[in-house]
Amino acid sequence: MNDIFAPHIPRVPITGTDSLFPVHRIFCVGRNYVDHAIEMGHSGREDPFFFLKPSHSIALAHANSQAILNWPYPSLSSDVHHEIELVVAIGQSGQNIQPENAHEYIFGYAVGLDMTRRDLQTEMKKQGRPWSIGKAFDASAPISTITPKEQVQDIEQAVIQLFVNQKLQQSSNISHLIWSVPEIITHLSKAWTLQAGDLIYTGTPAGVGKVQVGDRLIGEIKGLSSLELKVVAP
Ligand code: MN
Repeated sequence: MNDIFAPHIPRVPITGTDSLFPVHRIFCVGRNYVDHAIEMGHSGREDPFFFLKPSHSIALAHANSQAILNWPYPSLSSDVHHEIELVVAIGQSGQNIQPENAHEYIFGYAVGLDMTRRDLQTEMKKQGRPWSIGKAFDASAPISTITPKEQVQDIEQAVIQLFVNQKLQQSSNISHLIWSVPEIITHLSKAWTLQAGDLIYTGTPAGVGKVQVGDRLIGEIKGLSSLELKVVAP
């Protein structure tokens, strides 16, 4: 038996190597910093919740980790927001993972943007419908190269920042996550069997805002490769 067409598996380069990380699924955590939950009109005290993006939502700079990603402004929206997030790359399958063992399932970390058509997300929320059109569109998950965990010092205390046109727009620390990385892995692995190749976008701090064609975004998390993109006309 043969495939009737070649399967297309998105792959993320691994920092400083020729190796690639084949992407399986993209899980995202909603409202995981108190200051962002409050700016979105919530108390900041609730259980974690999750949504997914297709693996093909990944958007990468071409050629090498220094290149700038030309990111096409998406269709159907006039209110597209940036959300800078720590991304956890899962390297080993597992379910019902305890927080004290969560580290064993992590391959590495990256800088990601959970790009959002906020106008469509807000309208879908209002109607009680799924958010997919607001969150899970083409190129909605820009990501840096993945740095293996062995090369990352103290990620749980790292500064996370997003600059838009050189202006600091989002700034926080991974220590301000409501649900820590091990706790997220525990919660997720009760609901799904985590698999090698899964990516977890862990939530954004306050300061989300609109992007426009021509904007240049630089996302940084201390110890990881940065993510740089330019918003271009579709
Ligand atoms: Mn987000």
